[in-house]
Amino acid sequence: MEKIMPNRLDRGFYMYQKEFEIKALEVLRSGWYILGNEVKQFENEFASFTGSKHCVGLASGLDALWIAFRVLGIGKDDEVIVQGNTYIASVMGITINGATPVFVEPDEYFNIDASKIEEKITPKTKAILVVHLYGQASNMKPITDLCKKYNLRLVEDCAQSHGACFDGKMTGTFGDIGCFSFYPSKNLGAFGDAGAITTDDEKLAEAVRIFRNYGSEKRYHNKVVGANSRLDELQAGLLRVRLTHIKELAEEKQKICGRYLEELHNDKIQLPKIRDGATHIWHQFVIRSKQRDELMKYLDEKGIGTIIHYPIPPHLSEAYSYLGMKGGSLPVTELYAKEVLSIPLYNGMTEEEQARVIKAINVF
Ligand SMILES: *Cc1c(COP(=O)(O)O)cnc(C)c1O
Repeated sequence: MEKIMPNRLDRGFYMYQKEFEIKALEVLRSGWYILGNEVKQFENEFASFTGSKHCVGLASGLDALWIAFRVLGIGKDDEVIVQGNTYIASVMGITINGATPVFVEPDEYFNIDASKIEEKITPKTKAILVVHLYGQASNMKPITDLCKKYNLRLVEDCAQSHGACFDGKMTGTFGDIGCFSFYPSKNLGAFGDAGAITTDDEKLAEAVRIFRNYGSEKRYHNKVVGANSRLDELQAGLLRVRLTHIKELAEEKQKICGRYLEELHNDKIQLPKIRDGATHIWHQFVIRSKQRDELMKYLDEKGIGTIIHYPIPPHLSEAYSYLGMKGGSLPVTELYAKEVLSIPLYNGMTEEEQARVIKAINVF
């Protein structure tokens, strides 16, 4: 029997093969490859999808994060609050500018525990970076209240949450800037690296637009020392194609995960929970188990691949050893790193593949 992979990007391509191929050829034949009509159209369409006034296309999700903090003027001597159990890029978005990450433990939904933020606020705190991890919107009401109370900036890492809402409002629109990744495996994926920011603030949008192109507003008139972080025409065009199908792609994942929630039964695992008021777009279907490593090995022997998101929390990674944080300093984050497992989930996953995953987990 064919091995079931944790993710299958080819399936997502073949679902709309013809449309992707027509668009790719159109861009290749156009003779215009950087900052043209496709990027402009995608920015308009994605802003409209999220309900933001502005979208600026960038080269990656990490660029979206660090450029967001850069244009907000957050860097050296500043602190930014972020959850401990995130992908390390969230933290790099903060530290590339010289700011210090201050970690808060996650709640039972794998997002930042809003009740533990206030105790971490100091006079140096400038912003909260909310990560809508695995595709579920975070608990935004108390977080936006805290930002108002302490006059903090709010940045959202929406790399995993395209289309997820809290109280009917789209992630990426709660704060100053929403940061998106279109890395191929994300729910809105390109065929290479790509990212974007969304914002309602015209000045911030303009600052990012200038920054991404060497800091130049007009060619050869450079206002700031910027970066080269442009979304290219080919990726923008292909993203436009995928964006027209985002609703049905999300519905398909909802259906698969609905089946997982209904049919997975095993005392040795905990299923993911959904917060009241939040929607989940299922970037990953993440279960927990005290016997995670055994389960992973067992599933592998049954021909089912799984992944751990993420086995080493950022505060314990070698990159952040300079923060001097020891094992045990974030017990919940560290527990999740030992217990979480992402089971196979992708658009184009067959019912038979779903059934094999369910059966194997239930028998474990
Ligand atoms: C993927 C991801 C990023 C980084 O995006 P890239 O496009 O790979 O740079 C940042 N934060 C989170 C939570 C992610 O999942």
